[in-house]
Amino acid sequence: MKKKVAVYPGSFDPVTFGHLDIIKRASTIFDHLIVSVFVHSAKKHMFSVEERVAMLKTALKGKKNVSVDCFEGLLVDYVKKKKTKVVIRGLRAISDLDYEFQIAAANRTLYPDIETVFFMPRQRYTYLSSSVVRDIAHFSGDVSKLVPPHVVKAIAARRKKDAK
Ligand code: ADP
Repeated sequence: MKKKVAVYPGSFDPVTFGHLDIIKRASTIFDHLIVSVFVHSAKKHMFSVEERVAMLKTALKGKKNVSVDCFEGLLVDYVKKKKTKVVIRGLRAISDLDYEFQIAAANRTLYPDIETVFFMPRQRYTYLSSSVVRDIAHFSGDVSKLVPPHVVKAIAARRKKDAK
């Protein structure tokens, strides 16, 4: 039987427990999940693409059916290249729906076969986003309940470097 492959795209700047919750759910349903960092050079990021990929890889070590990648350009082209048509996205609250709906509809216009599958995280991650993590970190707040320990360390190291 053909393997069911899905792509989970995002900025992951940095990866949070919310992203990991979605990855856990999607990886139990699909045979293989490709978590892919979207390379958007015009946008200002806290971490480089390489750093974001490395943090995801560390967080997902040991997960046999999950791989980490990055991509540039249109998601539909990347998805076709990966020989799939399934895109995973997370829905935190109703506020995500409008944006996600637009993206999914645009992708479907470009690639009619594409299917966007949405997962809901655990309730406690409903208000968690990378930007909340970055904002808390900016004011030296504790992010240890929001991101894995190696990401806490990476954030602290970045803050130290930036302060110099
Ligand atoms: P963000 O900066 O908002 O965390 P990303 O581009 O990294 O955004 O997110 C990629 C995908 O993961 C999006 O579909 C986003 O809605 C979803 N996502 C991000 N955080 C969470 C969370 N806490 N729970 C569920 N889905 C999430």
